[in-house]
Amino acid sequence: MSRRNKLYEGKAKILFEGPEPNTIIQYFKDDATAFNAEKKGTLTGKGVINNHISEYIFGRLSDIGIPNHFIKRLSMREQLIKAVEIIPVEIIVRNIAAGSICKRLGIEEGTPLPHPLVEYCYKSDEFGDPVIAEEHILVFDWANEIEIEEMHHYALRVNDFLSGLFAGIGIKLVDFKLEFGRYYEGEDCITILADEISPDGCRLWDMETGEKLDKDRFRRDLGGEMEAYQEVAKRLGILPNADITEIADHQAKKDS
Ligand code: UDP
Repeated sequence: MSRRNKLYEGKAKILFEGPEPNTIIQYFKDDATAFNAEKKGTLTGKGVINNHISEYIFGRLSDIGIPNHFIKRLSMREQLIKAVEIIPVEIIVRNIAAGSICKRLGIEEGTPLPHPLVEYCYKSDEFGDPVIAEEHILVFDWANEIEIEEMHHYALRVNDFLSGLFAGIGIKLVDFKLEFGRYYEGEDCITILADEISPDGCRLWDMETGEKLDKDRFRRDLGGEMEAYQEVAKRLGILPNADITEIADHQAKKDS
């Protein structure tokens, strides 16, 4: 890992220069943060599980024609992705009220929304990812009208697809966050889905018990984070027999 040229280190991932032009290696760490990194921790094996869950979901999204940055998984914690210029807008899709919308608007957690709600946030740790309107995106030139329309359109398609995928394994998709990027292909610039899709950036509730199977376990000190993430992976048919802690320890030794 250390021999590679590091391009960027974020809260949960590191990006390294890829083997070919226009490629990047995305490395999934075990670090967890919440409340704009005020709360920090390590969840042993999280990077391994999120790498596999994100691989699976991006693969299924490719199958239904949603352009995305995923090329292939390289190892337990690494995947090869297309290099994009990240659009500094986070797209949040909500099916049920939870998290920040409850605090902002006084809505009770668990209230089903009559139709999916798409919100935009300005991607800025410094300002705490504030909610913004489409007008802000245009006025400050964070994305153009076509890009906004594409992100909105893809976000709703991802929501429809993932809601069905998770419903099929007894999980309610409450909300999630997406990031998009600009991918340059010769003269063309296309908008593609980037980042990751994992229990770090989704709210997932067990349909029968209402149990939280996502990062809220960490945010709210509920414990059992890795068991929950592994349960999501297991129901998706990923890493069914793996001992994640053992894999994570082995990988950490290899990487050091
Ligand atoms: N989310 C995320 N990264 C962020 C903000 C939100 O992945 O920087 C995800 C979060 O996990 C949840 C959804 O987006 O699934 C909506 O988050 P919310 O706005 O409720 O904010 P939070 O509760 O994280 O403060």
